[in-house]
Amino acid sequence: MKITTAFLALILASSPVVAQDVRVGVFGLFHPRQLALRPLVGSALVVHVSGESLVLEESSGVNIADIRIGGEKVVLRVGSHILRGSKITVTGRNNGPADFNLAIAGKITRHYHGTLEVKPDSQALTAVVTMDLETAVASVVAAEGTVDTPPESLKALAVAVRSYFVAGKGRHRDFDFCDTTHCQFLRESPASSSAAAQAVDATRGLVLAYQSQTFAAMYTRSCSGRTLTPAEVGLPSAAYPYYSVDCTYCRQHPSSWQSRLSAEDDATLRRSNESSRLRLDRRLGWSAVPSNTFVMRKEGEDIVLRGVGQGHGIGLCQAGAKAMAEEGADFRGILAHYYPNTVVTKLGRAARLR
Ligand SMILES: [Zn+2]
Ligand SMILES: [Zn+2]
Repeated sequence: MKITTAFLALILASSPVVAQDVRVGVFGLFHPRQLALRPLVGSALVVHVSGESLVLEESSGVNIADIRIGGEKVVLRVGSHILRGSKITVTGRNNGPADFNLAIAGKITRHYHGTLEVKPDSQALTAVVTMDLETAVASVVAAEGTVDTPPESLKALAVAVRSYFVAGKGRHRDFDFCDTTHCQFLRESPASSSAAAQAVDATRGLVLAYQSQTFAAMYTRSCSGRTLTPAEVGLPSAAYPYYSVDCTYCRQHPSSWQSRLSAEDDATLRRSNESSRLRLDRRLGWSAVPSNTFVMRKEGEDIVLRGVGQGHGIGLCQAGAKAMAEEGADFRGILAHYYPNTVVTKLGRAARLR
């Protein structure tokens, strides 16, 4: 049977949206050599190592696994059992996602909903949580939002984050995204009653598309009163060109900063260049050069930077979006302002047209 284009379009338009998973590398900043894994109360975890499996369950008393790096292997210790393998996989009883706590003793504990894989990579463990797209979006919106962020700006952020996850995969070798601002700042999945979870639910499956393609939407904490394009900060052009748009709130309430750099550090910084800004910030901390809009002045041996905004300054401005929402804009209006010439569309529709 010959399938005509019109018939194909009909099939595509009526097919259901397929659930998407996101693979997030977690705790990479800590270069962990040891991790502790626990099921949440009422849930069981199945830990698979080299063809063997163990069950962790709060009620059985066997409820904590110690995971360490042992040369080229991962070493799993549960009570008196010790298993070694090239990787450890953790699932629920049905092989699907489960609720678990992952911790680095004395440093961090986080609750995740998904499946977990742990592998050795040079001197540290790589932990990858595979989670449902909507869980990942909610975990970022919860990390980025504050208690006073209005629902419509949380919804706008949710659509931007979802678009980023759908279209921006492949940023790391062993997983799609890390949990830092390099990719997306991702913490725990929020409670379903939280404002972040509700904003994600209200925009479920919605993404931004430009010329019928979903793109990895960038956003920034605040801007200089107008947003920047990737070209202005030396980044390669993206699937979406971005536009420099006016941001009334930041123009009227600039988020000013000042920083002092040694002449040596300054030598590596080029004005309005995102790559050199990030290089310096990774070494000196995020307050060294908070944004791409600044002036430099020599003071004695040092260079003093005075600037406005937080982040790269491209795409949706979170401070401006919050102000727009407070003045009555809905999430579609906010997205239309910061991402001109785009449409908000259902995930399946845009993704299939890629
Ligand atoms: Zn990353
Ligand atoms: Zn702004």
